[in-house]
Amino acid sequence: MNIKKQIFGHTREGQVVNLYTLTNDHGSVATITNYGGIVVSLLIPDRQGKLADVVLGFDSFEEYLTDPPYFGALIGRYANRIAQAKFTLQGIEYTLAQNDGDNHLHGGLQGFDKVIWNVEENSCSPEGAHLTLRYLSPDGEEGYPGNLTVTVTYTFTNKNALKIEYTASTDKETVLNLTNHSYFNLQGARSGKTVLDHEVMLNADRFTPGDAGLIPTGELRDIKGTPLDFTESTAIGARIQEEYDQLLAAGGYDHNWVLNKEHTGTLTLAAKVYEPVSGRIMEVHTTEPGIQFYTGNFLDGSITGKGKTIYHKNTGFCLETQHFPNSPNQPAFPSTALKPGEEYRQTTIYSFSHQG
Ligand code: BGC
Repeated sequence: MNIKKQIFGHTREGQVVNLYTLTNDHGSVATITNYGGIVVSLLIPDRQGKLADVVLGFDSFEEYLTDPPYFGALIGRYANRIAQAKFTLQGIEYTLAQNDGDNHLHGGLQGFDKVIWNVEENSCSPEGAHLTLRYLSPDGEEGYPGNLTVTVTYTFTNKNALKIEYTASTDKETVLNLTNHSYFNLQGARSGKTVLDHEVMLNADRFTPGDAGLIPTGELRDIKGTPLDFTESTAIGARIQEEYDQLLAAGGYDHNWVLNKEHTGTLTLAAKVYEPVSGRIMEVHTTEPGIQFYTGNFLDGSITGKGKTIYHKNTGFCLETQHFPNSPNQPAFPSTALKPGEEYRQTTIYSFSHQG
C-alpha cells in the first residue's frame, strides 16, 4: 500500500494542482486531485482480476477546466437544486446564482468542485491510504452566509472501498449539503458502453417527485408500481423508456430516493449495483437520508473523455448521497441548516467486489 504525489497541472491563474495516487495491497488504485477533490480514476478488478477504471473523467488536468458536468467532484455548499436560487434563514433572504434555469445547482458558479483544496494529510494506516482535504469557504461565497470550514477525508481501503468522510463547521448559520459526483461505469469508463444493463438495487420505498425543473414538490411518493421501484435489483434500462411523467421530465432517472433508515446519521446500505459482463459489484453505504440516482441523461456525446471515449447519454450513472434537494425551502424535509457550534458529519462508502 502506498500514496504518491505528482503535479497534475496548473489552473488558468497558474496555481499548481496535484494528483495523489492511492494504491492498496491488492494493487487497486484511486487517483484524486486537490482541484475540486475530484476522483480522477478508480482501478477496480473484474471477476478475472483484470483492472479497469470505473469512473468517467479525463486523462489531462486541463480538460477538467472546461466546465464538465461535475465528473468525480466534491459538491458544495449545496448539492443539487435550490428553487429560484433563494432561501431564508433567521428572517434573512439569501440569493444565490441561477445556474440551472431559474434554480441554483451544485453550489453555484464556482462551487467546491472548482476550487483548490488544501491537502492536510496523506498517509497510510492498516485500513488503507488516506488523503485529507480542507477548504475554507468565506462568508458570502456564492451568496451563502458564514465562514465554513470543510474537511473531507478519502480513504482507499485494503478491502477495495472508497470511504469519504466529511465534516464541517460554520461561524454563522448556513445551509450545507455535501456529496461526491462520481459517474460510474462498472464495465469500464473506456468501454464506451452505456450503463443500461447494470442492475441496480436502491434501499428506498419512497422518492421525492420533482416539477419540470426537477425541484421536489414536497411529496414523498411510494415507489410501488412505478418505474422508480428498485427495491429488487433491476436493469437500469428495463423501464427507463416508460411513459411515466417523472421519467419524461428528467429524460431518465434523476431523482432523490428517500432511504429506508430509522435515523439520519446511521451508516446503512443505500444501493447495490451489479454489472453482468465484468461481474463487478458496487455497494453504497451512507449516513445521509437520501440518494440522487442520476443516469447521465444530459451526457449527449459532446464530451470526449479518457482514452478518447465519447460520453454519450447513459454512459455513466451517479449515486450521490445527500439531503433532499431544495430542503432549505421545504420545512418538512430533514434540515440542512448548520449552526455555529454544531458539527456537520457525513460518511459514505463505495465498496467494490465481484461475482464469480
Ligand atoms: C443532477 C442532474 C444534473 C447533474 C449535473 C445531478 O446531480 O441531478 O440533474 O444535470 O447532476 O451534471
